[in-house]
Amino acid sequence: MNYDLIIVGAGPSGIFTALELIKKNYNKKILLIEKGTRIEKRNCPKDKTLECVSCKPYCHITTGFSGAGAFSDGKLSLSYEVGGDLPKLIGNRVAQEMINYTDDIYLEFGADSKIEGLEDNEGIKDIRRKSIEAGLKLVDCPIRHLGTEKAQEIYYKIQEYLLDNGVEIKFDTLVEDLIVENEVIKGIKAVDSKSKKKREDVLSDKVIIATGRKGADWLKNMCIKHGINHSAGTVDIGVRVEVRNEVMEKVNNVLYESKLIGYPGPFKNKVRTFCQNPGGFVSQENYDNNLAIVNGHSYKDKKSYNTNLAILSSHNFTKPFNQPIEYGKKVSELVNMLGDGKILVQRYGDILDGKRTWQEELDRTNVKPTLPDAVAGDITSAIPYRPMLNILNFIQSLNIVVPGFASRETLLYGPEVKFYSNKIDIDQNFETNIKGLYSLGDSSGWTRGLMMASVMGVMVARKIS
Ligand SMILES: Cc1cc2nc3c(=O)[nH]c(=O)nc-3n(C[C@H](O)[C@H](O)[C@H](O)COP(=O)(O)OP(=O)(O)OC[C@H]3O[C@@H](n4cnc5c(N)ncnc54)[C@H](O)[C@@H]3O)c2cc1C
Repeated sequence: MNYDLIIVGAGPSGIFTALELIKKNYNKKILLIEKGTRIEKRNCPKDKTLECVSCKPYCHITTGFSGAGAFSDGKLSLSYEVGGDLPKLIGNRVAQEMINYTDDIYLEFGADSKIEGLEDNEGIKDIRRKSIEAGLKLVDCPIRHLGTEKAQEIYYKIQEYLLDNGVEIKFDTLVEDLIVENEVIKGIKAVDSKSKKKREDVLSDKVIIATGRKGADWLKNMCIKHGINHSAGTVDIGVRVEVRNEVMEKVNNVLYESKLIGYPGPFKNKVRTFCQNPGGFVSQENYDNNLAIVNGHSYKDKKSYNTNLAILSSHNFTKPFNQPIEYGKKVSELVNMLGDGKILVQRYGDILDGKRTWQEELDRTNVKPTLPDAVAGDITSAIPYRPMLNILNFIQSLNIVVPGFASRETLLYGPEVKFYSNKIDIDQNFETNIKGLYSLGDSSGWTRGLMMASVMGVMVARKIS
């Protein structure tokens, strides 16, 4: 079979490529290949089972139309300063213009017109004053909050729009390999992702890889096999923190999401807050190699009593080590091992006391975990000293901005590790050193969020149309 363009992965980066090509009247044969299913068939059974049943052959939280976007909190970060390194490639001004353009597309498909973090100037000033006192940088980033359920509605409309406009989508199809000859892309090798039968070669002289964080490991293997130039990037090791809404009330109301960055001693690594979910729920995503990774999201209407956010410690390795993805996996495996394959949770006070947390101790506190099957235990036995100390010292600083954040009952869940540490070498057209092969979104290592991944999709469409 021959196509003018094959897009691998129907996450935000892949689908915004297809959307923009339609807008640009590309009028050529586009095939979008997605390992998972249609968005309306995506279903995490945890609502009923209350615990993760490790769905096979894939986890619905991250796999299927709209990728990790479907069960995300749907927070669109509207500043070029947030969401990855893409601005380093295209420039800050262009990045901001493209964010504004892409935001309008989200609005066309029904996103809420309200933008958080713009209104309460006195409130923002006060939070910034405290951040300065704490030695933290407060990044200005307006947020458009879709909410998990609304995000799904919007992505459903996009799915139908793509299909109505002639984009062919092969669901439940896994791309196993690339066909590369003499450093030129010729197509891909696909297989039915459920039966692992019905193998086929699909040909095209243009292939876009947009496989997300889950596909980062596969892409790394493709890089080694086919000589795609790449380099080791940053690995983020962290925890998801959960406190009562009352503690975060001011920041939640004024900013919705506080983007704070610090360089705590003694190591001075970059440590930052990420993905804050007021009234949200801590969630679990499962990777194909059976890793359970913690995350968080929030609905527009259904609210919990808690706010969760990630604290991530960034690490760059030097020679001779160049396997950040492997490093992140080993740390996650260790945390999973202590939790018998589940997410671990520990109270901050127990960490200070040098002891594990017991389930009955969790039951006594104001903060009731919103991830009911998280296992009480000791994450400090698994997370390495350096990121762990960075996180604990950062929490102390955050307590100045948000009094009560470092309370003894604050919950820390682990592991929260971000697998975008492999960075693909791409030129200004987002093309790799393999002619006709493009790399986009979180799997490329250049983005780490819905908006920036979507922007990269729009931009590659403009380059190839
Ligand atoms: C619970 C949760 C909450 C989040 N909340 C936010 C938020 O509020 N704001 C924000 O900015 N970001 C959030 N994120 C991150 C955001 O979802 C991602 O940054 C974004 O989805 C990346 O888009 P992408 O297109 O690069 O990849 P993805 O969305 O990961 O999509 C990649 C797609 O490729 C498919 N795929 C992978 N490998 C193959 C293969 N070999 N063959 C075929 N298909 C393949 C996958 O099934 C997937 O559908 C959240 C993520 C999670 C999991």
